[in-house]
Amino acid sequence: MKKHFDPATSIQSLLQFGEYGDVNPSVTDSATFTFMQAKTMLETFKGEAEGCFLYSRHWNPSNKYLADALAAMEGTEAAWVTASGMGAITCAILQLVDSGDHIVSSRTTYGGTFAFLKNYLPKFNIEVSFVDITDLEAVKNAIKPNTKIIYTESVTNPMLQVSNIPALAEIANANSAKLMVDNTFTPMILSPARLGAHVTLYSLTKFVNGKNDCVAGAICGQNDYIASLIDVNEGTAMLLGPVLDPFRSSGILKNLHTLHIRMKQHSYNAMYLAEKFKEAGVKVIYPGLPDHPDHQLLKELMHPDFGFGGVFAIDMDNFEKASLLMEKMELAGAGYLAVSLGYFKTLFSNSGKSTSSEVPEEDQRKMGMSEGLIRFSVGLDHDIENTWELIKGCMSEL
Ligand SMILES: *Cc1c(COP(=O)(O)O)cnc(C)c1O
Repeated sequence: MKKHFDPATSIQSLLQFGEYGDVNPSVTDSATFTFMQAKTMLETFKGEAEGCFLYSRHWNPSNKYLADALAAMEGTEAAWVTASGMGAITCAILQLVDSGDHIVSSRTTYGGTFAFLKNYLPKFNIEVSFVDITDLEAVKNAIKPNTKIIYTESVTNPMLQVSNIPALAEIANANSAKLMVDNTFTPMILSPARLGAHVTLYSLTKFVNGKNDCVAGAICGQNDYIASLIDVNEGTAMLLGPVLDPFRSSGILKNLHTLHIRMKQHSYNAMYLAEKFKEAGVKVIYPGLPDHPDHQLLKELMHPDFGFGGVFAIDMDNFEKASLLMEKMELAGAGYLAVSLGYFKTLFSNSGKSTSSEVPEEDQRKMGMSEGLIRFSVGLDHDIENTWELIKGCMSEL
């Protein structure tokens, strides 16, 4: 099935234009919407009036255009867009669990997600078991009668382990649980819903927008689930209110249309640098390299057109050495010492003390994370050979 589904063409096949034929759909700069008939307003409240908008925390036409394009990319029935990736993740999870329920989560997730699962949910008597998500037996063994969600990232941060989405979906289905996949690292490359995931999550802040000018997120899934999120009485998204601003939606939609080209270049550049680091004798973690334990699995699951992704990590053994290299690389113009990813410039940071600092050091070691780990999000450099020469110069000074 995945062979016949092309996320880029799926977006490009959409006929989206504005009310005056504007090729970039109009930005709907409105919090509330007027009705000509009181009855239609009533129906919209109940979620029944197709094509009518009530209030922008619920739906806004600009947000709908972006959500429809993301649903097309994922091959899901629907989507909803949020003001941050964390807004998407937290609402998506809370919609599916009640007090007393249980979640099985990958041990390696984005730091904010980890903190939410580990520190925040227990306040509501929601229990989370953390497992090595690549160990399917461990996942099965962690399932309890009250397990409602299996949570993972398609390619985990920062160890770049690949989730076996079809196998995890099977475990979820056999136990009446939902498989939720954060696909932030691999848009276009992986289509989790086509592989069996029930809910696909995004931080649009990263590759999808790609400009580092805002934070945003998305939840993609089936119609009834997306409708439940914005139900006026019980919808987590409607009641907690993390809605995206329509101006941002409009900007992200335009950037989404170049995502397929950008992903190819990010992947090409990441592969180039990963191979060069490896040749230089540095320990490299990149699922595009044949020596990565999940290389074969990723090849089976991915759309080959977009490469193995723009993120890789190197191990400099200790924090001091990693810091020195990052400082030198920034001065040399190879990229910025900054958190985040998916930007047109290369970004690098020490995972243990930044994006995964919410993960206790003991757990970091358990997940195989060295304190000298540098995560690279490789940019759109036109001359990546030159970038490597700059980096090589920095390494020779260490
Ligand atoms: C950045 C990130 C998030 C959080 O998204 P925000 O837009 O910063 O709220 C979640 N998951 C992953 C994998 C991320 O990289």
